[in-house]
Amino acid sequence: TAPAIPVLSVEQVTVRFAGLTALDDVSFTVAPGSIHALIGPNGAGKSTSFNVLSGVYRATSGTVRFGDALLTGLMPHRIAELGVARTFQNIVLTAGTVADNLMLGRYTLTRAGFAATALRLPGAVREQRRHRERAREIAEFVGLGARFETPVGLLSYGERKRVELARALCMEPKLLLLDEPVAGMNTAERKAMAHTITAIRRALGISILIVEHDMGMIMRISDEVTVLDFGRRIGGGTPQQVQRDPAVIRAYLGT
Ligand code: ADP
Ligand code: MG
Repeated sequence: TAPAIPVLSVEQVTVRFAGLTALDDVSFTVAPGSIHALIGPNGAGKSTSFNVLSGVYRATSGTVRFGDALLTGLMPHRIAELGVARTFQNIVLTAGTVADNLMLGRYTLTRAGFAATALRLPGAVREQRRHRERAREIAEFVGLGARFETPVGLLSYGERKRVELARALCMEPKLLLLDEPVAGMNTAERKAMAHTITAIRRALGISILIVEHDMGMIMRISDEVTVLDFGRRIGGGTPQQVQRDPAVIRAYLGT
C-alpha cells in the first residue's frame, strides 16, 4: 500500500534573521496520527520552526504543507483555522477564568459574528452555550474539570500549562504543536502531562509535533524524532535510532 500522505511536510525551509541562519534547508514530515518530536540543543531552531509552521515567522525559502494545503505565507489565524494549533514555550494566558481562556480557543470556530454575540441574539447565545459545554469537556479531558470557573491567577504552574494545552485543543486541531509542554514541571506533573499527550493522540486522533528537552519522556512517547543543531537537520528516525546516532550524541555532548 502507498504510504499515507503526511499531515505536515516541511520542505527545505530556511529562515534567516539579520546575519543569522536560524533554520538551514530543513526538511521533515509528520505522519498522520503520530507523535513526532523535534529535538536539539539550545538555539538549534526548534522554536523558530514552530514560529514558521504557525505563521508567526515567514520562511526565507522553502515550503510548508499541511495535508494538501500550502501554509507558506499564510497568516497565523488562517493556519489556526485550517487546523494547526500551538502552545508556547512560555505560558501566554489572559486574565480571567480557565473557562474564559478556553472560550478564546473556541473563538476561531465561532460562526456568529462579534456583533450578534455581543447583542446576545438567540442563535449566537445557543452557539456560545455549545462552545462552553465543549470547553468544559476539554477541561475535564486535561484534568482541569474542577478548575473550570477558577481564575488562572490562582492556578499552579503545572495547571496553567494545562490551560494552554486545553485552549489549543479547544480549536479542534488536526495537528498540535507543543513547545516544551513539561518545562518547569516536577516529576509527577511530567508523568501526568506525558499521559495526557498520549491520550490526545489516542482518544482524539490528533497528530502531535512536540519540542521538549526531557529526553526520557521524548524517547518514551514519540514515534519519530527529528534532530536539529545550529539550524540544520542532523538526524532523524525512531527514538532508538536517534539515541544511537553518533552525530546526535556529538551535538548533545557539544564536542
Ligand atoms: P531553540 O528553540 O531550538 O532553542 P530558536 O529557534 O529559539 O532555538 O533560535 C534559533 C536561533 O535563531 C538562535 O540563535 C536565536 O537567537 C535566533 N532567533 C530566534 N528568533 C529570532 C529573532 N526573532 N530574531 C533574531 N534571531 C532570532
Ligand atoms: Mg525554544
